[in-house]
Amino acid sequence: MIVIKFGGTSVGDAERVSSAIDIVAERRELNPIVVVSALSGVTNDLVAATEAACAGDGDRVNAIVDRVRQRHEDVAMRLVQQKFDFFETFVKRLDKQIEEIHTILRGITLLREVTARAHDKIVSIGEKLSSVLFAYSMMMRALPGEHVESEDVIWTNDHFGGATPRMDLTSEAARKTLLPIIERNHIPVLGGFIGRTVDGATTTLGRNGSDYSAAIVAAAVGASEVQIWTDVDGLLTCDPRFVPSARVIDHLSHEEAAELASFGAKLHPRTLEPAIEAGIPVRVLNTHNPASLGTLITREGTERARGPRSVARKRNVTVVHMTSNKMLGAHGFLAKLFHVFEELEISVDLIATSEVSVSVTVDEQHDLDELRTRLTGVADVEVIDGQCIIAIVGRNLLADAMVGARVFEAMQGVPMQMLSLGRSGLNLSIVIDDADSDRAIQRIHAALFEQAVAV
Ligand code: ASP
Ligand code: MG
Repeated sequence: MIVIKFGGTSVGDAERVSSAIDIVAERRELNPIVVVSALSGVTNDLVAATEAACAGDGDRVNAIVDRVRQRHEDVAMRLVQQKFDFFETFVKRLDKQIEEIHTILRGITLLREVTARAHDKIVSIGEKLSSVLFAYSMMMRALPGEHVESEDVIWTNDHFGGATPRMDLTSEAARKTLLPIIERNHIPVLGGFIGRTVDGATTTLGRNGSDYSAAIVAAAVGASEVQIWTDVDGLLTCDPRFVPSARVIDHLSHEEAAELASFGAKLHPRTLEPAIEAGIPVRVLNTHNPASLGTLITREGTERARGPRSVARKRNVTVVHMTSNKMLGAHGFLAKLFHVFEELEISVDLIATSEVSVSVTVDEQHDLDELRTRLTGVADVEVIDGQCIIAIVGRNLLADAMVGARVFEAMQGVPMQMLSLGRSGLNLSIVIDDADSDRAIQRIHAALFEQAVAV
């Protein structure tokens, strides 16, 4: 068994749904279980409809819900229409769901407030509709798709909006629901993102939660692989918008992928944990380029892959340098400093220290005047905006001494604000002025990943 998950852009319109079905058809002998996201943009629309309802704007609510309904009917028109009774049953189901959202949204419009529970009920409709649509479209192509309610499979706690699965109940439910379908040689199709509590309330697993659903289902049934089908070729050695020679990384460890995710990779490996923990490999693949092998993510990664795997950039960073003679040999000094950050709810990203100074990076949106005031008498504070972090990620990054040498050579002439190297050389982060970062990232990529070292 494998789990095949399609993201929102992979089921965004009739043509894409059709290509996604091709992908399932080609993998039929692997006993696929299909997990789909909502059609791209639909979850955002449902969130917007709820906001409009809270603002009492009934017209806007209706306009948004009509648009959501129309998009699903349009896809069905293209893919399911030829078989009139199929199309009719689908539209009936669609209208029933839409009526249900209207009822809830009317209540919200009157009350001008929404509970977390009602919010989940509304935003889950995107995956409910997309999964039914996908199953019907498969049947039109004579592929035996069987729609399964996610609520019958994934059981969670009651943290609406970001629920955590209860794996004991889920394993049992997933086996009971999905295995008989596979034994019949049919293909289960379920919406991602959705779960239920023990008392039957619909929950969601947090935004972008469909990957999480795929990983949970895979772990529950003991699948041999999870395939995350998206709109990029996998994880790359660099962002191809800035470095055209960037290429796909064939195999990464979970840790490396997680490290890259914090630098804006589209994937959130935290959500893949249930699969990775169960020793199930995850492959990231491109719906628009199914021939590409994608990126494989496993717990350990590959033995032969040590050293740099990717260069990433995080922009809009502020550096805070804090200097104090009191730090010399004193204990509790760092605790005092970070206590102020905690009180002001400023989260710190990188840290570098010397004997008399501590430097940290924080996201640019913070107002740091209060920080400066509170640290008066404790440390001198210097704030530098407009910085960015360039991160070189890879396990045992510096095992080959040439890597460090090449990075520093590539950085010649680019002033650095901070440097930080994490555990077992997983991430070498360099903080520089954002204005220098295009040139720096291109040079580092060239030095580490391109054969001719063109610095
Ligand atoms: N549709 C949900 C979202 O947009 C879940 C997902 O796409 O993974 O957040
Ligand atoms: Mg999505």
